[in-house]
Amino acid sequence: MSTGAVVGTARTAQQGRDAFRTWLRAQSLPVTNQRLAIAEVVIGSADHLSAEEVAAQLDTHGEKAGTATVYRTLDLLVKSGLVVERDFGEGFRRFEAARDVPHHEHLLCTVCGAVQEFRDERLERMTTIIAESHDFARHRHRLVIQGVCGACRRGATGTDRAR
Ligand SMILES: [Zn+2]
Ligand SMILES: [Zn+2]
Repeated sequence: MSTGAVVGTARTAQQGRDAFRTWLRAQSLPVTNQRLAIAEVVIGSADHLSAEEVAAQLDTHGEKAGTATVYRTLDLLVKSGLVVERDFGEGFRRFEAARDVPHHEHLLCTVCGAVQEFRDERLERMTTIIAESHDFARHRHRLVIQGVCGACRRGATGTDRAR
């Protein structure tokens, strides 16, 4: 990769929690343990989590929150810039920690729901070439490749890859 950026730098769960607390205070919004725990779950994860999965993981953090609280907090996290919202056309949104990555694409397994990330300079260049050939100034693009992941094709039972 030739971008020169620090690729994939992620905040730790603790840093995410602290950053969200600072942001909430700056917005004069209530800082609650539930909100901080939700920030910790999403920002500390390398996955693309649904709101349901966030709620489920809260349990393991010893916190509980209703669906409305989870959704409201996820929206605040997106607003704060700490979390990015994704719509892969599955009928629900997913959330991933904002990282210091220039841009990346996704592969979505339609069997187990696993999401993989990739970045390819050739694709980046290609989108510019295509845009220019249509007299179009390219700003951004997004690509989701849907298909079946290797584990599912090889008939993995799926129980250990329930995401
Ligand atoms: Zn799969
Ligand atoms: Zn991603």
